[in-house]
Amino acid sequence: MTGNLVSALTPAHLRFLEGLFPGEGLVTDPAAMAVYGADSSRRSAMPWAVVRPKGEEQIVELLKWADAERVPLVPRSRGTGMSGGAVPAFGGIVVSCLWMNRVLDVDADDFAAEVEPGVVTAEFQALVQKHRLFYPPDPASIKMSSLGGNVATCAGGMRAVKYGVTREYVLGVRAVLPGGRIVNAGGRTHKNVVGLDLTRLFTGSCGTLGVFTKLTLKLLPLPESSATVLAAFPSLHDCLAGARGVFRAGILPTAMEFLDAKACWAISQIREVPWPKDTTQAVLVLKVDGGRETMAAELSRLERALAPSGPLCLFQGLGPEEEEPLWELRRLVSPAGFHLGVDKLGEDVAVPRGKTAQAVDGFQAIGREFDTHVVCYGHLGDGNTHVNIFYDAKDPDQAARAVKCKEAVFRLTLSLGGTLSGEHGTGITKGPYVSWQLGENERAVMAGIKNVFDPNGILNPGKGWS
Ligand SMILES: Cc1cc2nc3c(=O)[nH]c(=O)nc-3n(C[C@H](O)[C@H](O)[C@H](O)COP(=O)(O)OP(=O)(O)OC[C@H]3O[C@@H](n4cnc5c(N)ncnc54)[C@H](O)[C@@H]3O)c2cc1C
Repeated sequence: MTGNLVSALTPAHLRFLEGLFPGEGLVTDPAAMAVYGADSSRRSAMPWAVVRPKGEEQIVELLKWADAERVPLVPRSRGTGMSGGAVPAFGGIVVSCLWMNRVLDVDADDFAAEVEPGVVTAEFQALVQKHRLFYPPDPASIKMSSLGGNVATCAGGMRAVKYGVTREYVLGVRAVLPGGRIVNAGGRTHKNVVGLDLTRLFTGSCGTLGVFTKLTLKLLPLPESSATVLAAFPSLHDCLAGARGVFRAGILPTAMEFLDAKACWAISQIREVPWPKDTTQAVLVLKVDGGRETMAAELSRLERALAPSGPLCLFQGLGPEEEEPLWELRRLVSPAGFHLGVDKLGEDVAVPRGKTAQAVDGFQAIGREFDTHVVCYGHLGDGNTHVNIFYDAKDPDQAARAVKCKEAVFRLTLSLGGTLSGEHGTGITKGPYVSWQLGENERAVMAGIKNVFDPNGILNPGKGWS
């Protein structure tokens, strides 16, 4: 719903913004604004203006004014989102939360921390580690993304197999709603069943319900140590059988990632790889964590669980220093993929865990059907596969085939009882497909909820579920 919103800022609007955001708090220079109009989805649109609040008071005044004037606002943190959630594709003022980046409290007795939304995820994790505490969510963008963006997208990560995704670690959200209303959802307790769970509603709301100003996050005791195994397999099926063998041996790994044959090939183009290049069709990377004295035994258990599926080779890392080179190979898949095409459609579908093998087989078959490079990799342990479709956008035929390929991937995913997005959110790239997954009744309930939070539809318009 963008119909009742203004379509541009007037001189009076700009005068208001200059007053509320003095000096560098307001950006209107197109060159400076351009960076705030793009995110990692590779989509972009020019904002009408960018504001950089230093605190909640400015956000309250902004949301009062914008609601009265019907000016659209697009909350934004670090712009690493993969679905265009922070792109002002339907116009509006970008509200950058980067200047609100203080860690307000870390409490080792409460196992809780309070932060502003602009804190960089990896910096927060490093800080709590100094207190022997652990914040598990680890999106691969951890060194760049913010906690506010992570909560707004309910970011996942490699450790989700054992520790779950961001929503498991959000105890409370303080947010400003259109009209300047402040809502305190949840709190500092690890259990809370008073009223409806607004904290969960905010988590994954992608900037459509309110602008977060403070987050209360749950922490765990820091595991003493960890260990990693990388195993190469002669077929994807052997690799998936290996993964099943690990679960069946009663092991719950911290992370369980896989790379298909094209992903392995692409990585080998930019880095010396340890696996045999001519016979490897899939790679499995597993991590376990726990007490220091048990790690060597855990590694042996992992090896025994993998053995029946016939790995070509196994590499071990005990402790972060030895593990890092193995995980570095997994992280390289994203940049390496561009050896297969200059543009990509990056999907993050998820299927029920038991359907992963069927799904990956199907995605690869779809790639062959449309004569397009489809690379599958990712979070095998929780059924969330990254399906990257590579093509050249300058070639209309390739571009059309890539879209058909993506739609076929979506259809297959849904037919297996899956979801179009396991962690990136729908934003603008998947927005048009939401009705493929959600029925009319579900969408109507969601639209009703949106209307309670944002009756005039000023927050992140066009990124909903209709
Ligand atoms: C290399 C790479 C790897 C990635 N790996 C993963 C991964 O493993 N798992 C995963 O889940 N994602 C991953 N992502 C996607 C991305 O990093 C996450 O979606 C992340 O949570 C976005 O955080 P951000 O700070 O960049 O938010 P932005 O991109 O700035 O914003 C994302 C959304 O949050 C909203 N938002 C931002 N701040 C606020 C606020 N204060 N209040 C309300 N709404 C707000 C925005 O409107 C937008 O809808 C990856 C991205 C890259 C580039």
